[in-house]
Amino acid sequence: MVSIKSKSDIEKMLEAGKIAANALNVVEQKIRPGMTTKDIDKIVHHEITSHGAIPNFLGLYGFPGSACVSVNEEVIHGIPGSRRINEGDIVSVDLGARYKGWNSDTCFTFPVGAVAPEVKKLLEDTNASLYAAIEQAQVGARLGDISHTVEDYCRSRGYGIVKEYCGHGIGKEVHEDPEVPNHGKAGHGMRLVEGMTFCIEPMINMQGDGVHTMPNKWTVVTNNGSWSAHFEHMILITANGPVIMTKR
Ligand code: MG
Repeated sequence: MVSIKSKSDIEKMLEAGKIAANALNVVEQKIRPGMTTKDIDKIVHHEITSHGAIPNFLGLYGFPGSACVSVNEEVIHGIPGSRRINEGDIVSVDLGARYKGWNSDTCFTFPVGAVAPEVKKLLEDTNASLYAAIEQAQVGARLGDISHTVEDYCRSRGYGIVKEYCGHGIGKEVHEDPEVPNHGKAGHGMRLVEGMTFCIEPMINMQGDGVHTMPNKWTVVTNNGSWSAHFEHMILITANGPVIMTKR
């Protein structure tokens, strides 16, 4: 069941989106080599709570952090802990805020210091695939148009696409219908209507599609150790085109 949001729902979601975007901005300012992933989590927890919101990842399905902090070959669901961030690493920080009962969810992969040129390109291309997909999020378009855009953009550049995890509707719950995969057929799937809110989140590997979950039962890594990027925005479908609710 896909929920359609009212004007007042949307106002609260926009606030939740702003709080999440701000937390990413602060992480971007503060992230340094030598920090641990737990240090990033503390920054996120502080920023979200100091704006009167709740870190909605904390406790979600039992997740132990306020943010998923995934480094290099870690794709998603990195548990904040003692892993130290080095110069040249990439760090995906996935987070969300619940504000007055409404949720946001967004992710950005930060380069730490100077990264290898092909890594910089992976980040730029993954982010660009997100924006190309957002362009497709028009009233009357289909979900498959979004999925296909991510797949086509990334495949044509030789990257691997994570198929086991996908974007999702969002609202009173962090994860609602519909699923928004990063691969699919244009012209297929649900038609988009005004008032839908969902997250588009390409998870793109330097090489190969395959991923598996670590023994900690959370952290998803690439099978071949190649590095992975993850960018996510929460968007609203309107008659005037998509609105990015987690714009930074
Ligand atoms: Mg998400």
